[in-house]
Amino acid sequence: MKRRVYLDYAATTPCDPKVVDAMLPYFNKKFGNASTLYSLGQEAKIAIDDAREKIATAIKADVSEIIFTGGGTESDNTAIKGIAYANKDKGNHIIISNIEHHAITEPCKFLEKKGFKITSIPVNKYGLVDPLDISKAITNNTILVSIMHANNEIGTIQPIQDIGKITREKKIYFHTDAVQTFGHIPININDLGVDLLSASAHKLYGPKGIGMLYIRKGTRIMPFLHGGDQEKKRRASTENVPGIVGFGKATEIALVEMDREVRRLTYLRNRLIEGILEKIDHVKLNGHPINRLPNNVNVSLEYIEGEAIILRLDAEGIACSTGSACSSSSGEPSVVLLAIGLPRELAYGSLRLTLGRFTDEKDINYVLEVLLKVVKKLRSISPMASN
Ligand code: PLP
Repeated sequence: MKRRVYLDYAATTPCDPKVVDAMLPYFNKKFGNASTLYSLGQEAKIAIDDAREKIATAIKADVSEIIFTGGGTESDNTAIKGIAYANKDKGNHIIISNIEHHAITEPCKFLEKKGFKITSIPVNKYGLVDPLDISKAITNNTILVSIMHANNEIGTIQPIQDIGKITREKKIYFHTDAVQTFGHIPININDLGVDLLSASAHKLYGPKGIGMLYIRKGTRIMPFLHGGDQEKKRRASTENVPGIVGFGKATEIALVEMDREVRRLTYLRNRLIEGILEKIDHVKLNGHPINRLPNNVNVSLEYIEGEAIILRLDAEGIACSTGSACSSSSGEPSVVLLAIGLPRELAYGSLRLTLGRFTDEKDINYVLEVLLKVVKKLRSISPMASN
């Protein structure tokens, strides 16, 4: 049987069987509505409280500061639009970076049409934001800075702590999209100096369609959904109890495994990067060489078309991606790769391989062997390649 290797853990992760087991009773046995007074409902409420505590503990927050949402996109939208509308008496200026996820850039485009001003800070060749650039961009009208914790395509981890010092001094709200880092690397909201933080369960072996937003006590924010009193009126709608329980369980497991996983994945990631750079000519590593997610490999291969290589690798049982899963259907090269200064041809020939809990050394050996073969083959039929 052909070997199957999943290397797209940044797009999504399989649900951990222990997470599924924890969720199951909440579909049909403990199915109560958490807003009801009888014991079936209270059982659901206790399960939600328990999950909220696990998630709050993971980032050193208070339980009252966590709201559950329908995923990372909703958390990001709530942070951006919620802060914008609740604070428009103070100003109309928002600062982001030019490599944010669509879940940030699209609400910002929406707000621009409503009269808000958005400044997009360029990153350097490694995908890093310079905190000094943030400092310089701040005006008397700035109400929010939103910079992602780590980039979903190139894995670069931003100097959030340094940016947090600036926003604190200037008393400006600071949001970070931690969808790629929550449950993967340590997060302490006080050390980072953030007021809002987004996360999504399906990136850490939890279910899809459930996320959370950390909102620091005292933050002025408009709710995204209006309706019932759930989440202390900050997010109406009957709670997704199985999803919340799954998110809590996934977080608990992620915390226990984190140190070991960071070490294991960093080793495997470095082996993969070194193998690619050693075995294949005309290849460039994208993202920061050190300040990058332990599981992220992103390379550009000259004379190769990203989609062609994805399909060839798929035929060999390897699932991976060009750019992000969300942008790879558009046919346009990745905005992130263009932002770090790659020429369009190189941006088109990029490959993102993201490792995870079920990746082992044999997978890495297999991928290196297949990749070398596929690159040779594609270059041999490419009119652009000389070899
Ligand atoms: N932000 C980042 C950095 C992401 O990688 C993603 C998902 O790819 C999202 C936000 C959106 O999260 P969700 O799929 O839970 O809506």
